[in-house]
Amino acid sequence: MKKKWTISQADKLFGLPFFELIFQAQQTHRIYFNPQSIQVSTLLSIKTGNCPEDCKYCSQSARYRTELKTKKLLEIKEIVDSAKQAKKIGATRFCMGAAWKNPHDRDIPYLRKIIRKVKSLGLETCMTLGSLSENQARSLSEAGLDYYNHNLDTSEEFYEKIVTTRKYHERLETIEKVQKAGIKVCSGGILGLGEGTKDRASLLVQLANLPKTPESVPINMLVKIKGTPFFDKEDIDFFDFVRTIAVARIMLPQSFIRLSAGRKNMNEQMQTLCFMAGANSVFSGCKLLTTDNPDEKEDRALFKKLDIDVMRIDDLNNLSHDKSLSSKEKLRFEDFYDAYS
Ligand code: SF4
Repeated sequence: MKKKWTISQADKLFGLPFFELIFQAQQTHRIYFNPQSIQVSTLLSIKTGNCPEDCKYCSQSARYRTELKTKKLLEIKEIVDSAKQAKKIGATRFCMGAAWKNPHDRDIPYLRKIIRKVKSLGLETCMTLGSLSENQARSLSEAGLDYYNHNLDTSEEFYEKIVTTRKYHERLETIEKVQKAGIKVCSGGILGLGEGTKDRASLLVQLANLPKTPESVPINMLVKIKGTPFFDKEDIDFFDFVRTIAVARIMLPQSFIRLSAGRKNMNEQMQTLCFMAGANSVFSGCKLLTTDNPDEKEDRALFKKLDIDVMRIDDLNNLSHDKSLSSKEKLRFEDFYDAYS
């Protein structure tokens, strides 16, 4: 049976001396992944702005006056051209985001067409469209959707300070429907919303204890956008950010931990610390939905300095955690878990 993490265990990890925590995270990382490899995704906003939700960090909410230019659902050609460009720069996954509370049933045939076209390029597909019904999830899965992104953002306790137009349990329900439909889940959080360490611990416990662990876990740093209620939030201490990545790596050892939004505000040394703490996935390309992101040339230059290879689609297909684990390594992980019980 899957072991359940507790808040107290997560708290103990957060409380470890910094170097000890990084060391433990690195050990865990090396059990399950090659630490010199990184997975690269690209993200495109396929429908921008005018979202009815009130996420206080987001420029796409219709409730806030930001400089965002709204765009209706893109034509397939534009999406496919962007996917081709993503493939050219080495991305293995093409993520598409639409600023909706949920898609309408009438949108699903078009979304299925997009999925098929992008997949035919040899890319993994990911979408983030808001809440889904069971039928919608099944339909997207049948079209070949590989991943669905649905972030929990923060702890259940802190959630209503971030969003009031939906409930935490609704997020969990969509994740359940997505998993039931056989789609892999990408779900993580945002740091710097004013949450405390307990909230970060609680978020990671939620993610780690899902009946099926999310395959991909984005850890975002708040990008403060003028006109949103969170524009004036205090910066998160960078070492607290790295700590969260390290704890995520330990508690979600087989997931790709993605260094996501906020990377544009991190210098190479900060990003390197995040990779050392166990982040092994990034978004590449100069835009992340609506916020700035390092372009692929900057990323390539950093990866070269760090001797990091970008994973190819074959590497991902051949990634079999169980096969690669010796019983000695499995034992070490069990011991490690027990040490923090
Ligand atoms: S985060 Fe997503 S759901 Fe929330 S306002 Fe922005 S686009 Fe809408």
